[in-house]
Amino acid sequence: MNNLDNLRHTTSHLLAAAVLKLYPKAKITLGPPIENGFYYDIDFEDVKISDSDLPKIEEEMKKIIKSWEKIEGKELKENEAKKLFADNPYKLELIDEIVKRGEKITIYQSGDFIDLCRGGHIENPKKEIKYFKLLKIAGAYWRGDEKNKMLTRIYGTIFPTKEELDKYLWQLEEAKKRDHKKIGKELQLFLIPEEIGQGLLIWMPKGATIRREIENLIIKEQTKRGYLHVYSPHIGKKSLWQTSGHWDLYREKMYSPMIIDNEEYLIKPMNCPMHMMVYKSKPRSYRDLPIRIAENATVYRYEQTGELSGMLRVRHITQDDSHIFCREDQVVDEFLAVFDYIKFLLKIFKINDYYLRLGLRSKKEKYLGSDEIWNKAEEKIVQAVEKEGINYLKSEGDAAFYGPKLDVVIKDSLGRNWQAGTIQVDFMLPERFNLEYIDENNQIKRPVVIHRAPLGSLERFIGLLIEHYAGAFPLWLSPIQIAVLPVSDKFNLITRKIYQYLKEKNFRTVHLDNNETLSKKIRWATLQKIPYMIIIGDKEVKELKRELPEKISVRTREGKDLREINFYEFIDSLKSQIENFS
Ligand SMILES: [Zn+2]
Ligand SMILES: [Zn+2]
Repeated sequence: MNNLDNLRHTTSHLLAAAVLKLYPKAKITLGPPIENGFYYDIDFEDVKISDSDLPKIEEEMKKIIKSWEKIEGKELKENEAKKLFADNPYKLELIDEIVKRGEKITIYQSGDFIDLCRGGHIENPKKEIKYFKLLKIAGAYWRGDEKNKMLTRIYGTIFPTKEELDKYLWQLEEAKKRDHKKIGKELQLFLIPEEIGQGLLIWMPKGATIRREIENLIIKEQTKRGYLHVYSPHIGKKSLWQTSGHWDLYREKMYSPMIIDNEEYLIKPMNCPMHMMVYKSKPRSYRDLPIRIAENATVYRYEQTGELSGMLRVRHITQDDSHIFCREDQVVDEFLAVFDYIKFLLKIFKINDYYLRLGLRSKKEKYLGSDEIWNKAEEKIVQAVEKEGINYLKSEGDAAFYGPKLDVVIKDSLGRNWQAGTIQVDFMLPERFNLEYIDENNQIKRPVVIHRAPLGSLERFIGLLIEHYAGAFPLWLSPIQIAVLPVSDKFNLITRKIYQYLKEKNFRTVHLDNNETLSKKIRWATLQKIPYMIIIGDKEVKELKRELPEKISVRTREGKDLREINFYEFIDSLKSQIENFS
C-alpha cells in the first residue's frame, strides 16, 4: 500500500468512529481505500441514512480527529477479539476467517476508537487528516453477495493538500455537467430506447454525423497508410469461432447460436475470423506481406445489465478494426507504424496525455498456445515499445487469450483515465486458421497477425469525446457548424440565400427563420453548441451590393462577437479550420 492509500484507509477509521458516536447501534464492517478515496460499509439496522446526514458525520469526524495523536496496533487472541466485537456479527465472521487462514488477529486504536484491521495506516492522523470530504451514500451487499444483507456504503475522499481536494471536487462537479448521457439527450446525439432493448443504441442524425466524420477520417488515413478496407457479414457459422478459440474462451460474452439451414450460426463477437478468410482467399508470397485488412466493423457482446452505461458500455460496438498479416521480421516495424497512427489520431482529438499498458498473462486464466510462443510475442512488443522509447506499464492478467496486448490509456480534459485502443500480436490464430505464405526459398511459412483497433469502440470513444469536449465539438466534428440568424423576418430572404450558399459549400448549417426574437435564437444556437452564428440585420443589409452581403456579423458559441467580417474570407477560414481538424 502507498501512503495515499494509508491516508485514505485511516480516514475510513475516522468515518467509522464518527458514525458510532452518532449512531451507537450501527455495526461497522469493512472500510478500504479505493481509487480517489475510501468507503466504509455499515449496517445501520433500522435507521435510514441519506446524503443529507453526511455534513453531520463530517462535523463529528472533525471533532474526533483532534484526539487522534497516533494509531496503534495490537495482536489479540481469538477469544479476546471475539469478546471485544461480541455485538458485531460482521467482525465475528471476519475473525473466524482470519483464524481459518491461520493469520494473526490485529486491532488498531486511535483515541477511543478500536477496529479490527490488518494495518496500513498513517503515523500521525491528527496532523495528516485535514482535507477530506464525504461524497455520497450507496447500497452494498455484505461481501458483495446479493444473498446477504444490504448495507449502507458511505463514500469519501481525502487528499494530502487542499489544492488536490479542490481539484478533485471540481472534477466531480464538472464530470456531472459533462455526463455524456445528459449532453447526448440535450443535443439529441443518440437514443437507447427500452423498446429496442438494453444496451442497444441508435445513432441519431447528429450523433451519426459525428460518427461518419470520424469513420471517413479513419478510412482516408488508413488508405494512405496502406490498409485495404472490406465489409463482412454480422453473422457466421459457429465453427468459425470454434476455430478461432472464442467459442471456448470468450463464450460468456457471446450470444446464443441461431439455426440457419440446420446449422448453428453466431452473431459475431469479434471480427478476426472474417479477415482470416480474406487472407486465405488466395495463395500469398513473402512479397505480398504485410497485408493490412481493415473494417469499421460492428460486433455484438453480452455485457451484464448492471454494467451498461449510456454509450460507454453497450451490447454492440463498432471497432476501427484491422488485422495486419506480416512476416516475423516485420512485426516490430508494423507495430511501430500502428503506434504512429495512434499518435496521429490522438493529436487530432487533442488528447495529449496518454500512456501504454502492456497486458501480460496471469497465472490463473486460460490462454491459447505454448509458453514459447507467448514469450516470443511479449518480446516483440517490448522490443517495439522500447525502440520507440514509449512509457508503458506492465499489467498482469490483461492479455487477450491468444496473445499479449498493448492498450492505449488516455487522459481526458478532466484528467480521468480511459482505455481507448489496443494492439495485439498473435502467433496463434494463423496456426488455427492454417494461414500460409511462401518464403523466398519456396518454403511454406506462417504469417504473424497484429490485431489493432486504435480507437477501440466508436460508441465508447465518441461517448468519451462528448465528455472531453463537454459537447462543444470542434468545427470539423460539429453536427451543425453554422447557424444563420436573421435579426427579424424582413431579412429572411437574404439569410435563406446565405444558408443555401453554405449548403452548396458542404457546410452543415441551419436557418433560424422562425418567429423568435434574436436573443432567443442566439440562446438556442449557443445551447446546441453550434460553433458559429451568422447574424444578418440592418447593418449588414444596408451595404448590400450583390446577392450575398459582403460584410457579416458573427457570434461564436463562447459568446464572442465579431463585427464587419468579410463573408468570403470568413468562409475560407472555416474551410481551413476544418481541413486542420480544428
Ligand atoms: Zn485500518
Ligand atoms: Zn482480431
